[in-house]
Amino acid sequence: MPDPTSTWIITGGAGFIGANFVRKVLAESDVRAVVVDKLTYAGNLQSLRDCAADPRFSFVEADIVDRDAMDALFREHAPEAVINFAAESHVDRSIDGPAEFVNTNVLGTLQLLEAARASDCAKHERFRFLQISTDEVFGSLGPTGAFSETTPFSPRSPYSASKAGADHLVAAYHETYGLATLVTHCSNNYGPYQFPEKLIPLMILNALEGKPLPIYGDGAQIRDWLYVEDHCSAILRVLERAAPGSHYNIGGRSERTNLQIVDALCGLLEERRPAAGNPALQEQDLDRYDGLKTHVDDRPGHDRRYAIDDTRLRTELGWDPSTALEAGLAKTVDWYLAHREWCEAVQSGSYRRVRIGTAS
Ligand code: NAD
Repeated sequence: MPDPTSTWIITGGAGFIGANFVRKVLAESDVRAVVVDKLTYAGNLQSLRDCAADPRFSFVEADIVDRDAMDALFREHAPEAVINFAAESHVDRSIDGPAEFVNTNVLGTLQLLEAARASDCAKHERFRFLQISTDEVFGSLGPTGAFSETTPFSPRSPYSASKAGADHLVAAYHETYGLATLVTHCSNNYGPYQFPEKLIPLMILNALEGKPLPIYGDGAQIRDWLYVEDHCSAILRVLERAAPGSHYNIGGRSERTNLQIVDALCGLLEERRPAAGNPALQEQDLDRYDGLKTHVDDRPGHDRRYAIDDTRLRTELGWDPSTALEAGLAKTVDWYLAHREWCEAVQSGSYRRVRIGTAS
């Protein structure tokens, strides 16, 4: 367990996975959590509302690209760990505007690494810099096989290319400067507080409102799904036990096509809010949510299949996920049904669930 007096800087902590991680850290340890977030469209303090009263929680609105701000954070808080969730994270947005992805994901990570390297706290033997990365850096798989820690990077979107660039920098800072870095590569996450542009919340909210459920291409793209709380428990395990310089894959062993996910969500919604009683569907003479499925042009360069071999994490560090996909999807649907005000609040800016990232 971490030292009870320790402070962790959690960048991107107002986003989906970061907010779930902060909540878990406050609940399960004595660590002080300093959340650093630029509050882009994807970051929202509403996602941390229940943490705000905790004396071990504090929030700093800052851009990780801002080196002076990052230096000041290290000076003021002398963290025992930095966990870098901050990123531009949506592939479709990276197709429309790659520059911001390079700015935050590559240059922002560089500035954080530089601030850590210049600080005294990074010289402490317990210090760790954990970079939260993605399985997308490994590229796209055929029908068989899985990404392991030795799979070469082969990113195919501006998003995954920017994440791969950051990962290379993190590895280089360990080799060149001896910084105590760690990297995790996780598969697709789902669960509470995910911004409604990503597949699962988008489908739940569109279905409830009787809007089309857009299926990219044939919908047969395969992803490996992991409940967000299990991702957070894996991160904690890596922080506690992994050797500096190591990297671990994190997966759910739950491969499904996008169509299977959409069908499962429609089924869960039928049980909870039957379409036949939903005025938004009745207006369209529809009595089933899956009648809203609409095939649209595929995403350019859409990766066909991801699968994670996380044997190293499971055998070396003894981690296992605790939520099966079907149970996790049911919890997620229930959470979105119970938190419509959160959905309204985070979409109150410019985001309106319209299609982007077509490269046209
Ligand atoms: P998210 O988009 O929900 O949250 C990102 C957060 O980073 C937001 O709060 C945003 O305001 C903040 N941010 C963006 N630019 C910033 C900047 N320049 N300075 C400070 N803060 C900034 O993303 P997420 O889904 O929670 O993903 C978190 C991390 O996990 C990302 O690094 C992502 O690559 C990685 N990841 C995500 C998944 C997934 O399925 N969501 C899977 C594997 C890895």
